[in-house]
Amino acid sequence: MEQALQKILKEKFEKTLETADSREIYIALLYFTRDKMADMPVNEGKRKLYYVSAEFLIGKLLSNNLINLGLFDEARELLHRYGHELTEIEESENEPSLGNGGLGRLAACFLDSIASLNLCGDGAGLNYHDGLFYQKLENNYQREVKNPWMSSDSWLTDTGVHFTVEFGGFTMDSIMYDICVPGYQGRRNALHLFDSPTVDESLIGDGISFDKTDIPRNLTLFLYPDDSDDAGRLLRVYQQYFLVSSTAQLILKETKERGGDLAHLHEYVAVQINDTHPTMIIPELIRLLVKEGLSMDEAVKEVSLTCAYTNHTILAEALEKWPAAFIEKVAPQLMPIIKELDERAKKISDDPRVAIIDKDNRVHMAHIDIHFGYSVNGVAALHTEILKESELHPFYELYPEKFNNKTNGITFRRWLLHCNPNLAAYVESLIGPGFKTDAMELEKLLSFTDDETVLEKLLAIKQENKEELAGYLKETQGIVLNTESVFDIQVKRLHEYKRQQMNALYAVYKYLQIKAGHLPPRPITMIFGAKAAPAYTIAKDIIHFIMCLGQIIDNDPDVRDWLKVVMIENYNVTKAAKVIPACDISEQISLASKEASGTGNMKFMLNGAVTLGTEDGANVEIGELVGKENIYTFGKSSDEVIDLYATHGYSSAAIYDSDPEIAELVDFIIDKKMIRIGDVYALCRLYKEIVGKDWFMTLLDLKEYIAVKEKMLMDYEDRKAWAKKSLVNIAKAGFFSSDRTIQEYNDDIWHL
Ligand SMILES: *Cc1c(COP(=O)(O)O)cnc(C)c1O
Repeated sequence: MEQALQKILKEKFEKTLETADSREIYIALLYFTRDKMADMPVNEGKRKLYYVSAEFLIGKLLSNNLINLGLFDEARELLHRYGHELTEIEESENEPSLGNGGLGRLAACFLDSIASLNLCGDGAGLNYHDGLFYQKLENNYQREVKNPWMSSDSWLTDTGVHFTVEFGGFTMDSIMYDICVPGYQGRRNALHLFDSPTVDESLIGDGISFDKTDIPRNLTLFLYPDDSDDAGRLLRVYQQYFLVSSTAQLILKETKERGGDLAHLHEYVAVQINDTHPTMIIPELIRLLVKEGLSMDEAVKEVSLTCAYTNHTILAEALEKWPAAFIEKVAPQLMPIIKELDERAKKISDDPRVAIIDKDNRVHMAHIDIHFGYSVNGVAALHTEILKESELHPFYELYPEKFNNKTNGITFRRWLLHCNPNLAAYVESLIGPGFKTDAMELEKLLSFTDDETVLEKLLAIKQENKEELAGYLKETQGIVLNTESVFDIQVKRLHEYKRQQMNALYAVYKYLQIKAGHLPPRPITMIFGAKAAPAYTIAKDIIHFIMCLGQIIDNDPDVRDWLKVVMIENYNVTKAAKVIPACDISEQISLASKEASGTGNMKFMLNGAVTLGTEDGANVEIGELVGKENIYTFGKSSDEVIDLYATHGYSSAAIYDSDPEIAELVDFIIDKKMIRIGDVYALCRLYKEIVGKDWFMTLLDLKEYIAVKEKMLMDYEDRKAWAKKSLVNIAKAGFFSSDRTIQEYNDDIWHL
């Protein structure tokens, strides 16, 4: 490695390991790693998987690639000898901004596990130049700016493969770039990212504004462009068709090259449709197969045996329904196929709830996936049950055999070995290295639950990680943390259903308690990190509320030594890897039934945090694994919540009016202290939303939440008992390895 790096540094910069700066060393490592990966054998198999997704939140790649190549320790030691730290070298790498949240991160973890299990499967997505926006925090507001992440030296390779995508009235070139996906100590796959050569970053004006109608120049600028108007919604359909048309052409090309017979496509190809964004791949594949000479019946049958669909949400507003006129405009050649599918579906059932095209002429994307795919999976046990029993019940009656559960997982290479090397090394010293390939071996840790030395060491590792995070936040945001405080963390996208506002109301409660002289057993640091969608007003108001609260507390000498509320700027994979190992309390407090699975909850558990959560998503499975003494749960059950929606039985105003303790907390949103520093308009809007509507039932669980959190903070003081809970959480996290999830996908769905 040393020689190779010296050679690259000499050729590129006329430098050596002694004289090169961090950025030059990073670039040398990048090219060295790329070469090593190119030497890995490619996974092969008769049936090949295409995992199609609008997002891949892959995070920085250098360390992960080195880990999977088995070169991480060598690289770290080598750099150390020359006075560098790998963590400092990594600062030169931009995080690819190709994803939004959990769904995109899941796709990234899956690619890692697919390659590590030696399965033949590639990802397919889009190469957004400016990604999702970059979040700046200024004057207690979120401001969105563009996030250009590509540079001339990057993990992207131009494959030379390109396709033509036909839109209504014009065509566009699609260039395929690849990012190598190395498996852990094994073989490699690829992530294919399609891009347009005509995209023009100079189209971007103030912040993230741009001309939404100039498709050739804007197509792959941003992930999830603002869809609050028709131009934005149309752009999303253009993006989706560009993705699926490119992917479908790639599939047919590769299948032919591999000697496959398109008349038996499903024997050679499996397509996993990650949420509804890539749905149009179904009619597109049918269209292309008909062009290749198959009859409509044959094409529909083959594609139905090829495509499988993963559902990620029951939120009605997130289930895509495009006006037929949009698809007619974007890809007119697709509409006859969609109409054909609609007619076939109507022959199967005349129930309007399962129609593809509804009476308002809108196309229900998920309905295409379910009728014309062979598998429908939810992402946690509870979520799949809710799909079968309520959200997709009419479909479940039609196709019970298609429904299955695949509880999400995370790759332990990134979320333990990479992000928490101290813990990983200590675990290895206790139970050996087997857990790196068989995560269930973590259960061996259970034999140490009463070993004081082990418990103390776990606390010491947590303490070190807290100090490291404190150093990082000091350096990046100028925030000073008390590392003797308990770190209570909620980091995830901002959404009312995730209920950051409920956590913020806890902060108000604690603030008022401290003001009244009731001090907590030790100081509390509440850490938030969340991006709000640019057009999601209430979500931005919640950020504003949290940040104003943080400022009030900082300025109050009675309170600031006991409570701190901070907001991490631009929460992403890089930040997650710093925050999660430092966490004591993992906040997973979504309204029951609304969080399909969550994967943040798994990352925290694996790193020894204790969950404070509702009985939602994968929290339920975490609770079953660790037992009730090692998790803190609260709140109404998903059944009760679903019933409240059905009967319109929830009224936040009724709770507010009848409970002065709750009213006092909610009223603080518009207290004069808040109004003095914040935007009265935004704060009043949030106040009114919570008192008048509160669609995600913040006030329903608020009191129980406060009570359970108080109990948790008391329990934290028994440090040994807490360390034991932490140990059990780590030991039981093996189930949530994405290797397990992918094994199940392959056994039950893909059969690669
Ligand atoms: C894991 C992860 C998420 C998903 O978090 P949830 O708590 O499951 O919503 C979102 N963003 C990033 C950067 C992540 O790493």
